Amino acid sequence: MDRSTSEQLYKKATTLMPGGVNSPVRAFKSVGGTPVFAKKGSGAILTDEDNNQYIDYCMSWGPLILGHAHPSIIEAVQDKIALGTSFGMPTTAENELSDLIISNHKYIEQIRFVSSGTEAVMSAVRLARGVTKKDKIIKFNGCYHGHVDALMVQGGSGLATFSEASSAGIPLDFVKNTLSIPLNDIEKLERAFTENKDQIACVIIEPIPANNGLLLQDKVFLETLRSLCDQHHVLLIFDEVISGFRIGFQGAAEHYTIKPDIITFGKVIGGGFPVGAYASSADIMNHISPLGAVYQAGTLSGNPIAMTAGLAQLSTCLQPDFYKNLEEKTQYLVEGVMHYVHQKNYPFYMYHIGSIFWTTFHVSNTVKKASDIKKESANYFSELHRFMLNNGVYLAPSGYEVGFVSAAHTKAQIQNTIDTYHKALDFIFQGG
Ligand SMILES: *Cc1c(COP(=O)(O)O)cnc(C)c1O
Repeated sequence: MDRSTSEQLYKKATTLMPGGVNSPVRAFKSVGGTPVFAKKGSGAILTDEDNNQYIDYCMSWGPLILGHAHPSIIEAVQDKIALGTSFGMPTTAENELSDLIISNHKYIEQIRFVSSGTEAVMSAVRLARGVTKKDKIIKFNGCYHGHVDALMVQGGSGLATFSEASSAGIPLDFVKNTLSIPLNDIEKLERAFTENKDQIACVIIEPIPANNGLLLQDKVFLETLRSLCDQHHVLLIFDEVISGFRIGFQGAAEHYTIKPDIITFGKVIGGGFPVGAYASSADIMNHISPLGAVYQAGTLSGNPIAMTAGLAQLSTCLQPDFYKNLEEKTQYLVEGVMHYVHQKNYPFYMYHIGSIFWTTFHVSNTVKKASDIKKESANYFSELHRFMLNNGVYLAPSGYEVGFVSAAHTKAQIQNTIDTYHKALDFIFQGG
């Protein structure tokens, strides 16, 4: 497969932008080779600048639950954009998207839109500290919450790949109130609460951790977390930037029937545009400016074009059986791959929940926290990634990243993907 145009473009890009990219994991550092330059997308198919086509499972890292260039989003945005791109004044689009979300989400009463998941998380943590008048926060190893200073402690995703505990440029003072503990470990969780009694403002968790592998938590762990927060008057933040509107419309909160105090959103919410949001009860949201003392603002927040794209996408997600169909399709993929894996006895496992999947080179399905993932798995993943890429399947370029099935993926495309996985695994374990 010829990717010489991508190679030339990337070479040029490296002279213009650090690492040639505007977000580090795009640089293919962990899998080797050159990033692929995207030219266009339609449905599940991505076309690169050399006109190669791929069945895409990265889907812009999660936002594109309807696939690329979904007609309902494109038409809505085209109509709206002719009326002006930004006003810095309230617009009907904000009312419509808020209303759609709130009236279909039983865990929230009010929402504030921002422009990224990072911004949503940063604001939610400030809100929690403002409401509780306490400073400490607890997070979990292997959960990623954007590049917020106070949360860059044992993050997942790019951080796991670059094997750095944190980032340069963050004063110790900014993280000294952050406690990062292992996932799925009730004992350590209880100890963190008792050792920091009356000092914890909030606990933030990806209830479905999907930035450092897919680390599905025991329900009892999440329930214990909820009750400890209640006991200690600590606010529970569900970071649903990935899981929100992805694992069902009401995300992980609905999946586990656990009511968090604050939820953060991103990715799917913007229909492929830069949107984030945080939401809670009216009581808690009343603490935000202009009503309350917690300041948070944004020039382009609630941008009408982005709101319109979000509205088109989320209305489609609300159609009957939308999530059921998506999950069935994902199950088909997983069963198709795993059936073969069992036949061949390959040390490989495919996790999934809803339309999120993750593959790992472990025999069993017992990976529940960051430290359960073996380093060798990442090496195998580079081979898998290269093989899939060269055979027309685009996976996110890191073994710690999950894959996303969209509503646009057809059964034929998924069957093709299953066959390609079989060939890739034969190649890896039998040398072709
Ligand atoms: C992607 C992600 C973020 C950061 O969102 P950005 O839009 O990239 O800033 C935060 N939390 C979780 C769980 C995410 O997956």
